[in-house]
Amino acid sequence: QGAEGREHRAKSAVLKELAKIEGVYVPSLNSSRLPARRTIGGSLEQYSSSGHESILRKQSREDKGIALLEQYCVEKRIIKDLDNSFFPTDIVVPYIQIVHDRIGIEIMRGCPHKCKFCQACKIFHPLRIRSVDRIMEIAEESVKNTGYEEISLLSLSSGDYPHIEELAGRLEEKFKPLGVKISLPSLRVSTFEERSGIDTLRRAGLTFAPEAGSERLRSTLDKKITDAEIIEKSRGALNSGWRKVKLYFMIGLPGETFEDLDAIASLTGKIKNVNLSINPFIPKPHSDFEREGMEDLETLKGKQRHLCSMLYALCSRAKADFHNPETSKIEAILARGDRRIGKVILKAWEKGLRLQAWTENFNYNLWDHAFQETGVDPEIYLKRKEKNEILPWGFIK
Ligand code: SF4
Repeated sequence: QGAEGREHRAKSAVLKELAKIEGVYVPSLNSSRLPARRTIGGSLEQYSSSGHESILRKQSREDKGIALLEQYCVEKRIIKDLDNSFFPTDIVVPYIQIVHDRIGIEIMRGCPHKCKFCQACKIFHPLRIRSVDRIMEIAEESVKNTGYEEISLLSLSSGDYPHIEELAGRLEEKFKPLGVKISLPSLRVSTFEERSGIDTLRRAGLTFAPEAGSERLRSTLDKKITDAEIIEKSRGALNSGWRKVKLYFMIGLPGETFEDLDAIASLTGKIKNVNLSINPFIPKPHSDFEREGMEDLETLKGKQRHLCSMLYALCSRAKADFHNPETSKIEAILARGDRRIGKVILKAWEKGLRLQAWTENFNYNLWDHAFQETGVDPEIYLKRKEKNEILPWGFIK
């Protein structure tokens, strides 16, 4: 008891010190009694923190004059200058094959676009650029230290990197003689061009993400790509040596109609040699759609069946990969959940669930039992949130 008590006191002291660092959030030092449907007009005591006001910003805001909410928030910290921030160049090289078995260099953080469904552009805001000189330095050191033969240039939208041609040219000049390949995984349709620079980074498959089938629905997402651009760039890529083009779409988007689904099939029919990835829309925290609801399983499955038959009718040779709606539902709950989800995850683990992102391991029934046995209603996390409803992630600014 004595030793345990001392350990507990030491841990509490460490947590209290950590909580003083701006940007650090310690859950145990903050109230977790946030009811699921508490509104901004709710009692202020519900949100009171157990201390550490010095590091948690007390914020006031008014919501349509309904009420004033005082909420304890934590504000994320931002690295302003990528060039002068630490970047590891002496990384561990595993002796078994791993998924990302290459050097990854982040060339840009943030995204210049603002697609409404996108969580990443909000989380990684603002846009910051790493200079070509610094990227070259990192690449040279990393290759020297690791012996890797591939460098992947990472960012949310690599084609928007403002010096992409200069970077591609210098990398090719330096590394082609050494047999080191360069890859560029995240291209937007409108930034993909067969310019000399990007053309040297050719790989077997290229993925574009139109997200929605029709221009009408795409415009509601602030995804500014026309059908003509998608067709032209996909055909251009196939003609210039890419073996496959994959198009990524979501279904169940806010405001979607069956005509929008038909538009996916007719767009696909206009491009040869294309694969599709079809994924249920999940309203992500921090995105502009964070208060939207997620469509129920039956509706999503009905839409999948409809799209399947349209694809069969209009472009039977296209290969379509449909993401399992049950998996998406669990992903959505985990993404949108509050602290109560912790006991559901523990229960799922006790039931033997492991590696749930692997299709062969995923077991929806056991997840269902985990919710029932812990008394947590999964549906509350999937419903549309009212404008004045407190969000579980609302304390992160
Ligand atoms: S979806 Fe891609 S292009 Fe759109 S904002 Fe997000 S990262 Fe940028």
